[in-house]
Amino acid sequence: MITGKNYIGVDTSAKNNRTYTTFNPKLNKPTEWVFHEASQEEVNAAVEKAAIAFETYGKFSDAKKAEFLKAIASEIEALGDELISVYVQESGLPEGRAKGERGRTMGQLRAFATLLEEGSWVEATIDTAQPTREPLPKVDIRKMLLPIGPIAVFGASNFPLAFSTAGGDTASALAAGCPVIVKSHPLHAGTGELVASAITKAAKKTGMPDGVFSNLNSRDSEVGQLLTMHPKVKGVGFTGSTNGGMALYRLASQRKEPIPVFAEMGSINPVVVLPSALEQKGSEWAAQYAGSIVLGAGQFCTNPGLILGIKGQALDGFIANLGKEIEKLEPTCMLHPNIYEGYEKGKKELSSQPKTAEVAAYKGETTPNFGEQKVLTVAAQDFLDNPVLHKEVFGPFSIVVQCQDKDELVTVIQHLEGQLTGTILGTETEIKTSPEVVNALVDRVGRIIFNGVPTGVEVCPSMMHGGPFPSTTDSRFTSVGTSAIRRWVRPVSFQSWPEELLPDALKNNNPLDIMRLVNGEHTKKQL
Ligand code: NAP
Repeated sequence: MITGKNYIGVDTSAKNNRTYTTFNPKLNKPTEWVFHEASQEEVNAAVEKAAIAFETYGKFSDAKKAEFLKAIASEIEALGDELISVYVQESGLPEGRAKGERGRTMGQLRAFATLLEEGSWVEATIDTAQPTREPLPKVDIRKMLLPIGPIAVFGASNFPLAFSTAGGDTASALAAGCPVIVKSHPLHAGTGELVASAITKAAKKTGMPDGVFSNLNSRDSEVGQLLTMHPKVKGVGFTGSTNGGMALYRLASQRKEPIPVFAEMGSINPVVVLPSALEQKGSEWAAQYAGSIVLGAGQFCTNPGLILGIKGQALDGFIANLGKEIEKLEPTCMLHPNIYEGYEKGKKELSSQPKTAEVAAYKGETTPNFGEQKVLTVAAQDFLDNPVLHKEVFGPFSIVVQCQDKDELVTVIQHLEGQLTGTILGTETEIKTSPEVVNALVDRVGRIIFNGVPTGVEVCPSMMHGGPFPSTTDSRFTSVGTSAIRRWVRPVSFQSWPEELLPDALKNNNPLDIMRLVNGEHTKKQL
């Protein structure tokens, strides 16, 4: 049952009288649930508890943390149909998507548990002493990754489960040994509260310290800013708008002790369509891309918002087919009237830019909050001359940029801002003979896709979901997949440290049986 209260560690409280409700975009009316905005005292209490919890939780064995993560997954599953029903009501997304996202969320938690159970993620590195080395003796140095402290997590509006309360940021921070304080996303506070109740139950069942997790409700910026500024918060995870991510990034860097903000923000995910792709299966690509643009009302950070091709008959045919395919598809409900209005505004702004032409737009009946798809086209030079056309329009919208030749295509790619993904469609032979295109694209993106669509982000150790600024604030890290844990740790070297006082990961007899780098050799051997 949804209470609308905040979770401050294991307590639930509602000290603040300022309340708000969530909204059902399909019915176009508010939900029945009332949420209490977290007060400043609640923010402080949550962080203070997290800081105390860190003293123990940060030192827990990987096995104990894995037990906690697996228990969270089970408790989320145990929420059953209520979670799915609340998710659907608050997001306008279909039940199938809700169930898929729940599976992904539990899968992520279990993947981090597996990473912990294996244990080698701490990157234990040992260089033993050489007392007789000339001219100077070498001391014993051993290094491993350790958690940084309490983390504030800002969930995403477009993934109420997988990128929210118990999403990738929370799962990776808890796996690292960092307590988490979630600033619940105001569009799906009920979904967030149910998940917070599951995390709290799991924490109690597995003997976690009070304060290892808190969930704060808020629908304005103050709570998030207080959290980011709190001296005991040591890092921030964020998925959302460029404005929001950058506001938090600036705040965090102005603190007396600056902290990292890992923000995943906008991306238009360029798709390069080489002539050979269109000769071979232009109409198939057109159908596939129409589907990818409209998928989930275009509310994906990997939505293909920009298609780059070389002028000619083949590209003309592709554009015509894309237009036909996109007109056939039925629009779906967007997350909230504000997101819908943001989409309409962005669509209008880009459509009214000089020298752009409409390829296709949905022409059927309109339903409140349903995102009607649109595709524009523009010549490459006009695209290069107009920064407005480089903006992300969050929704089912894309622009086809027509380049004169490969040189102009490379110039366009080189002038793009940093992106999460880049895709190349073409034959292997043509890609082999186009290294300048591939190199330009690799320079701009975090994930490069061959003959596919960018939507769909697998959760696995090799996934990179992050890219050069402004797609994220730090292109060295991913927010999806088990490598996401690296955002919440720092390396610490133990020099000449007594064997019995070393963490288990660094002890001579390798009691955790993990892979380590010992005197330059990757091994599980004991010393
Ligand atoms: P958002 O407005 O950036 O909000 C995300 C979270 O950050 C919310 O909890 C919000 O809380 C908080 N926040 C935002 N600005 C803040 C500030 N200045 N100080 C402190 N906290 C702040 O994103 P959204 O609500 O998810 O969606 C709005 C737009 O973001 C979309 O229309 C879309 O353009 C973009 N978006 C992009 C992606 C992507 O993956 N690229 C994903 C989702 C959304 P409050 O609302 O309580 O302030």
